[in-house]
Amino acid sequence: MIAIVGAGRLGTALAAALRAVGYDVLGPLGRGADPRDASAVVLCVPDGEIAHAAAAVTAGPLVGHCSGATALDVLAPHEAFSLHPLMTVPTGADPARFAGAGCAIDGTTPRALAVAEALATALRMRPTRVADEDRTAYHAAASIASNFLVTIEGAAERLAATAGVDRALLAPLVRAAVDDWAARGAEQALTGPIARGDDETVARQRAAIAARTPDLVPLFDALVAATRDLAGPRREPRAGAAMRTLRSVAEMREYVARVRATGRTIALVPTMGAFHAGHHALMRAARAAADEVVVWLFVNPAQFNEQRDLAAYPRDEAKDAAEAAALGVDVLFAPGVEEVYPPGFATTVHVEGLSDVLEGAVRGVSHFTGVCTVVTKMLNMVTPDLAFFGQKDAQQVAVLRRMVADLDIPVKLVVIPTVREPDGLALSSRNVHLSPENRRRALALSRALRAAETVVADGERDAAAITARARTAMDDVDAEYLALVDPDSFQPIDNVNGRVLVAVAARVGDTRLIDNTIITTAATPDGAPTTQEDI
Ligand code: AMP
Repeated sequence: MIAIVGAGRLGTALAAALRAVGYDVLGPLGRGADPRDASAVVLCVPDGEIAHAAAAVTAGPLVGHCSGATALDVLAPHEAFSLHPLMTVPTGADPARFAGAGCAIDGTTPRALAVAEALATALRMRPTRVADEDRTAYHAAASIASNFLVTIEGAAERLAATAGVDRALLAPLVRAAVDDWAARGAEQALTGPIARGDDETVARQRAAIAARTPDLVPLFDALVAATRDLAGPRREPRAGAAMRTLRSVAEMREYVARVRATGRTIALVPTMGAFHAGHHALMRAARAAADEVVVWLFVNPAQFNEQRDLAAYPRDEAKDAAEAAALGVDVLFAPGVEEVYPPGFATTVHVEGLSDVLEGAVRGVSHFTGVCTVVTKMLNMVTPDLAFFGQKDAQQVAVLRRMVADLDIPVKLVVIPTVREPDGLALSSRNVHLSPENRRRALALSRALRAAETVVADGERDAAAITARARTAMDDVDAEYLALVDPDSFQPIDNVNGRVLVAVAARVGDTRLIDNTIITTAATPDGAPTTQEDI
């Protein structure tokens, strides 16, 4: 005989269903019952009362519960099982309702498990064993699949009502969507504007929701984001997909407004073009981190201290555009000089101190002022959530971090490790100017950095000694500077203790090259050093 304890909806339905398939059933009994004659007792009580109900049963029969989220230990010391029908049980449910439903089962002994399986099978459910450690995840999945679906339908119903459309008209659509999902899986079953990439429609939908049921906007935004992830293609490189090239600030603002209206995030990759694998790494990282990727392509005259360098700077927009499109970039923003610096332009952004040393000292303070001014402008034009920069330009990163913090610019800077040729040369747009002989000599920079790393690894902590060894490694190439500085303040350090940035610049032939590395030692002279690329 099977006893059912708990006379709620589930207990009542389960007792009726088991009787209907020929079981000798006692109950449903009230909570706290102690059915001594039963061979098994099934507790159909709220989760919080299971332990109490189990304690009321005198040792002897197998004891089971019907909770999705509760482990078996709550039934100890009984020989125990669990039986959780994956089915809603409304009041007065038809006993046949269980047929075809899934059913999570478990047992503390093979015999207890066999009883759970027999009960589920008798009701024509499909039993599957779910172990204790998987139960909460299983139960959460069931909640998403059923409870949250109802929540979503409730939202749809409210919005539809504002258009005079009744729930009954939505129901066939919901059934068809669920059937399709069950048959083909989520990715295949997805239809509608997001799956089609129709952002305009999604933006109009959001505006309508904001006007009629504004409290549903956060739910809509979250579902749009999750649906986009499911639809997928914009998160992957879309070889050959349409990438737009924009030239004006007005066009960029329109684009940003459309993107923001759909709650999408934007990553910005600032560049001066002539793309190489370093730029590609930035674009890939941006593609993986945000919904929309904007690449800024602008050879900024304000940051060049030599007209000759500016004139000779490599430019090939057609090639750059093809590479960006292949990496899944959404927008190439390539404004002309007049668009960025219209007549009458008179404002600059200057970061004190950090801008004056190393690169600032060699190229003049106007270099970083030019960088900061143009980066401020592009951040204002694009308003990205994230902006990607290379560790290759370590001082630029330090200056921009200071600027973004000081000016409260709402953007997160993301720094990508330096990408190198197999022989160690840091990739740079300027490398194309190197003759074969100078290409070989250019290895002096990365060699100097490796020498510094090695000598620190050997225990040297004196900055002057480290610098001397690194300079020696450069052979016939003269460093414009080779310095050990604090990676944040760029102030020189005398002794390595913690994180230090080794920065080097040199002219190789007519080409000016820079490189750097960060060395980290434990904050004691004897600590084992490590190198790291991230800053
Ligand atoms: P540029 O076009 O030279 O102004 O560089 C655009 C961005 O790419 C900057 O944030 C650079 O720091 C970054 N970048 C340049 N070269 C490399 C490289 N070899 N590895 C990683 N990032 C780089």
